[in-house]
Amino acid sequence: MTEKHIFNFSQPVGDPMVEIGRLGLIEFCGKDKFESFEELEKEVKKLFNIYVFKPVKTLNQVFSFNSKFTHNSTAKNLNERMKQANTQFSDLMKENKDGYCLSCGKANNLCSVGKTIFPLTTGNSNANFTSNFSNQFLMCKECMSSLFFAPINMKKIAGRMGFMISNNKEINNFWSEENIEDFNSNIVKNIDCLVDSKINIFENFIYKTIEELQEEQLFGDITFYLISNTDKGSEVTLIHVTENQMNFINHVAPKFFKDEKLGTSGKDEWNYLIVKHSYKERKNDGKKVKFEDEVIKNKDYKSTMKYFNPLIKNFIQGKSIISFLKKSRSSWHLTEIYLREIRGMREERLAVLKRVADGLQELNNDDKEFIKKVIFPLERTKSQGELRGKLRELMRKLMTKVSKPLFTAEEMVFQILPSGENWSETKDILLIALYEKLTIDEEIEEEFENLTNEGEDEDE
Ligand SMILES: [Zn+2]
Repeated sequence: MTEKHIFNFSQPVGDPMVEIGRLGLIEFCGKDKFESFEELEKEVKKLFNIYVFKPVKTLNQVFSFNSKFTHNSTAKNLNERMKQANTQFSDLMKENKDGYCLSCGKANNLCSVGKTIFPLTTGNSNANFTSNFSNQFLMCKECMSSLFFAPINMKKIAGRMGFMISNNKEINNFWSEENIEDFNSNIVKNIDCLVDSKINIFENFIYKTIEELQEEQLFGDITFYLISNTDKGSEVTLIHVTENQMNFINHVAPKFFKDEKLGTSGKDEWNYLIVKHSYKERKNDGKKVKFEDEVIKNKDYKSTMKYFNPLIKNFIQGKSIISFLKKSRSSWHLTEIYLREIRGMREERLAVLKRVADGLQELNNDDKEFIKKVIFPLERTKSQGELRGKLRELMRKLMTKVSKPLFTAEEMVFQILPSGENWSETKDILLIALYEKLTIDEEIEEEFENLTNEGEDEDE
């Protein structure tokens, strides 16, 4: 039996740039197998035609100045540029070199390509492309063809080009379908055909993308890439988002900011936190303008994504957001979801921490007094030993009131402050549970601000 399809694009490849191009090609062509060179060439020509004859603003951000599509010597004559690009492609297809494809590992019938022929490459270090690539390398015909389709499966983000690859095939398809649809509609509308996310902050873009995936009920691990394509300062930014982060968002924030109303459902606590932490600098005086002040008033929730948001930034980068939760006096409910979904905290430990916090309320006869005598001393502890000592001291006080101890020695060792756990985070978790039950007046608020701002390293 002979293989009927001579160009087969159905198998995933390891190189992210080639992979995003492969997915773009399949979506653009509406198929993943081609029976002849002519059949494939027809699609490539269609693509080149768009690249060459649709002059777009964003083109130069994506295409190397050295590529045949933008090359200075042929820049003025578009027909000549188109001819060159086509010739180059068919010449590469004719090569037959032995070796292994750098991207997928396929053996033989390879072509030798230089980095500058491809639309996305530039700069000597060639950082955008892939770390493996030297100036001249071997690739199979499928991988080489795929690369030409990479730009149409990317989005402009923060003045650079972004894309993502997931371990869930459906997420990749969702990404490609949306991009090619936008790409095609941009061509019809005769505007920049490269897809513009209109978001200038990478983390915000990722956050918004996760939200959209939730609406489709799609989950998986995703790596987001942001590449630049100028000779100077070309770099790649990578952010990996886990399925846990997606589960968390699914719990607390579906349809984030798409709804007109805030404050009706249990999910609004998280959305409100996001709102609270969004700000931008005002143009005339450089003062921070909180999202609340001007956007909520105008019900322009979507524009949050244009605002810098330290909470989103930390969350997307996989850093702890416990300090944000404490500062905002978040509920135990939200904190618990976070600790369970993102931090993978054991149920047993969660239960003990909550019980200890609740138990301490036995010492509370008056909120203000309680805050000064119990809460603030806990806030002030500076080491695991100090925190442990403080808790033991409070337990002794409690024993004069209740007969059952606040915690057993075993619980202290295995649940409250087990070795390997971040003690200061444990402190914050206890405090979140404590604050939830207290009324805090202005005077206390001020003292609290002073306390928590000591040694602050938040991104604000
Ligand atoms: Zn290959």
